[in-house]
Amino acid sequence: MKPYRPSNKVPGTGWVWLLALSTLGGAVVGGGIAFIARWIYLLLIFPALMGFTSGSATTVAIKKGKVRSPLVGLLFGVLAGLSTYGAYHGGEYFFTRQSFAKEIEAELGQDMEPAEIDALMDAFFQEQTGSSGFVGYLKFSAKQGLSIGRAGSSSEGVPLNETFTWIYWLIELAIIEAISVVMAKSAAEDPFCETCDQWYGLGQRIGMVEDDQSQVFLKALEADQIVQAATHIQPRVTTIPHLEVDRRQCPGYPQEDVVLEVQRYSENKKGEGKRSPVLLGMLSHRQNVQLTEAISTSSQPDPKPDTNEPDTSPEG
Ligand SMILES: [Zn+2]
Repeated sequence: MKPYRPSNKVPGTGWVWLLALSTLGGAVVGGGIAFIARWIYLLLIFPALMGFTSGSATTVAIKKGKVRSPLVGLLFGVLAGLSTYGAYHGGEYFFTRQSFAKEIEAELGQDMEPAEIDALMDAFFQEQTGSSGFVGYLKFSAKQGLSIGRAGSSSEGVPLNETFTWIYWLIELAIIEAISVVMAKSAAEDPFCETCDQWYGLGQRIGMVEDDQSQVFLKALEADQIVQAATHIQPRVTTIPHLEVDRRQCPGYPQEDVVLEVQRYSENKKGEGKRSPVLLGMLSHRQNVQLTEAISTSSQPDPKPDTNEPDTSPEG
């Protein structure tokens, strides 16, 4: 069985979708988080949320724009993460400027031109950090130190010093990027039918394979021994871990190649289930028919179906 390989194609509309959603989506979410962060900011949770929204925006762009290049998906996952996190800090800069302006105006008792406030603020950052503008603001924030556990005011909690604040920001960015990139890349790796120019449908369960048979099963598939492989597929397997075997069809027309998706289902000690990809392979129409026939033969109960309850009554 041939493995499914993405074609690496990116249509013109795909680029438009990617550019629009990864930058605009990031700006909206990052700005929104900066707004909420004036009252509450949840450490690790908000970065994870930003990663998820970056990944989701890129995924939508990939699906709508029919982007089949995992590398391009990955790069725009990175860009979406950067624009989200940049917009978050940019938003905080904006809100800081606003409150700075209010304070100065209250102190002087008169309204000031935005340009004057800009100049005052830049002079302040320049003096404190050696840089003006957004960079000066970032440096100044880091110098102030981040307060772990801040909620509205930074009166309580453990303050981090400058170095740790920079490190913490890097960790936040890493969390955002990791989530965003994994989501975006896997979206572009999803099977796509080049003939009909559309994504393959969702998986339909064919059956499951017991863990101890999984190696033999996968070897048989690899060697195109479809009937042989089918003998290992059962309608249901209760032992964990096991393999789940799904068929994914293109909505285009039925005589086409189908994608066979094999995932491994396992559970951790807490009983939380997890699926990891094992195989994404192409079956020709003939192989698909072979597989369907082999499974329906092997899963039929031996002499007769259990509709008329034949010999199940206890003997003696
Ligand atoms: Zn198709």
